[in-house]
Amino acid sequence: MTPEKTIREAAALLARASRAVAFSGAGISAESGIPTFRDPGGVWDRLNPAEVGDTQGLLATLEKRPEKLVAMFVELLTVFDAAAPNPGHSALFDLERMGILRSVITQNIDNLHQEAGNTRVIEMHGNGFRFRCLSCRNRRSHDRHDLIRQVKDRLASLPDFSTASIFSVMPECDLCSSLMRPDVVMFGETVMEIEEAFAQAASCDVMLALGTSGVVTPAAQIPAGAKAAGAKVIVINPNENGFTRVCDIYIPMKTGEALPLIVEQIRKIRNGA
Ligand code: NAD
Ligand code: ZN
Repeated sequence: MTPEKTIREAAALLARASRAVAFSGAGISAESGIPTFRDPGGVWDRLNPAEVGDTQGLLATLEKRPEKLVAMFVELLTVFDAAAPNPGHSALFDLERMGILRSVITQNIDNLHQEAGNTRVIEMHGNGFRFRCLSCRNRRSHDRHDLIRQVKDRLASLPDFSTASIFSVMPECDLCSSLMRPDVVMFGETVMEIEEAFAQAASCDVMLALGTSGVVTPAAQIPAGAKAAGAKVIVINPNENGFTRVCDIYIPMKTGEALPLIVEQIRKIRNGA
């Protein structure tokens, strides 16, 4: 099937949908300038997951090579600061406003779906701009750009990057004064909102798997859950991915290119063109 034909087929399916759910991974934000983890040139080409992917590894690396770790972290902050929702994110908001898309389940922590306007976003790996208290249940959200500026300023004011110095600038809970940590899921930690994510998948009419490799479980099983419950599955990803078995329509394109074309095509269908 040509990409044009797959776009038309996806649009025809979505034009009749009212409970579609999008499931997104790092690929949907690639066109916003945020690198994916596994693509060539991605984060894992430069960082060893064992060294920074879980809390223990991160603390050990902070002890051994603090300058390198802080430099990489600041580089990452700069990338997140420069990012903005791209046409793929915006098209998902269009689909919500058209009464087609019910929710977005994302593995991303970048807040870009919310900033594009989507109102029901299930963040399985948390949000990089929210903290959670290590003692009580308190969570605190921040504006992306404000927080990045604050963190950069605090790091720049430190005399050194010893573990003690870094901990001295960690935020405190406004309710109980305990330390707070970023509210994101590291390797080995339990994913968030998994029940709600699977419930959304099991009750949707169309599942859009967008820019995700399908190798991080249990999140990767979400499209299969939708398919088993009778939904049609549309996959948009320029590269090979783990969803071949469950996919009904495969669009081998970037999400920032394919999704706006799909929205345009749905508008034509609805206008009787
Ligand atoms: P991944 O890095 O494993 O896979 C990314 C996928 O996106 C690949 O299959 C790739 O082919 C595809 N892709 C690349 N560019 C694309 C584009 N323009 N359009 C559509 N698809 C494109 O990412 P993953 O499967 O999401 O899992 C990695 C984990 O890393 C996630 O769980 C997430 O928490 C985290 N992560 C988040 C961000 C973010 O918040 N933006 C960025 C990197 C990693
Ligand atoms: Zn607290």
